[in-house]
Amino acid sequence: MTVSITGATGFIGRRLVQRLHADNHSVHVLTRSKSKAELIFPVKEFPGIVIAEEPEWKDSIRGSNGVVNLAGVPISTRWSPEIKKEIKDSRIRVTSKVVDLINDLPDSVRPTVLVSATAVGYYGTSETQVFDEQSPSGNDYLAEVCREWEATALKVNKDVRLALIRIGVVLGKDGGALAKMIPLFMVFAGGPLGSGKQWFSWIHLDDIVNLIYEALSNPSYKGVINGTAPNPVRFAEMCEHLGNVLGRPSWLPVPDFALKVVLGEGASVVLDGQRVLPVKAKELGFTFKYSSVKDALRSIISQ
Ligand code: NDP
Repeated sequence: MTVSITGATGFIGRRLVQRLHADNHSVHVLTRSKSKAELIFPVKEFPGIVIAEEPEWKDSIRGSNGVVNLAGVPISTRWSPEIKKEIKDSRIRVTSKVVDLINDLPDSVRPTVLVSATAVGYYGTSETQVFDEQSPSGNDYLAEVCREWEATALKVNKDVRLALIRIGVVLGKDGGALAKMIPLFMVFAGGPLGSGKQWFSWIHLDDIVNLIYEALSNPSYKGVINGTAPNPVRFAEMCEHLGNVLGRPSWLPVPDFALKVVLGEGASVVLDGQRVLPVKAKELGFTFKYSSVKDALRSIISQ
């Protein structure tokens, strides 16, 4: 198949491109910067890859069977009012662009599937509730961003199969929250961040990439699908395992302020969590490579 991907140059996108390319699918990277994307995906390593800046997105999407939409300004940063606005606007802008380009195509050349990212932030935060795909949305800022992001994707032509993946905290070595947390753990010896009681709905990078890949190719994957591992953990447990894997004791708590210095208000992604279960993925028969956070962390740190 031929797949166009926004946000392909990011943490999840890079791994998805590698996976699709390794399986001989054609990949179109939809980016804001061709020169950046060409460095990430050198032709020697990725022969045949198409790198498109606007206005070439239109032709790329026209020639694709599927589109994956991952673009957006990073959330784990310091949230000034301007950045907060851009966190929402960048997602709405790119999603809206992709949806318009798909909708404007004649039926005969329209991609058949759109896999669009959203986040478990949709549900808001809670130490006691358990959320699945049927749960209502929360009341905070990230919940509002996710609602509007999803609503924009839902405007895609009804003949296009839409899979909205509500992604949890993706664990991988070279990016995401873990890459920012590990140095803090090394400095502070590494206990829980905040109270440690907050829930942490994580997913290994390999599994989120497999889930997106499956959503592209399997017609049963449609609607909202939580992209989280089957066993979310309290943050204290996650930190204990991380401490063990890194060979650091985990009895000294990493202070909230340290995390906020690194992540700003974006620290709320790990300081206030939610317990989200992948009910739909399990119903669909999706096989998780990593169900235990301990195994996931061990595999990542030993890479
Ligand atoms: P990254 O931050 O690594 O990459 C996102 C990509 O978005 C970038 O490579 C960039 O592509 C594009 N981008 C960045 N800023 C802007 C902007 N202002 N306007 C338009 N495009 C922009 O994201 P991840 O790979 O970590 O995540 C992919 C998606 O999944 C994101 O939307 C994220 O919110 C969501 N998600 C991720 C989670 C995680 O733990 N990683 C958890 C929950 C949701 P380019 O420069 O090529 O245009």
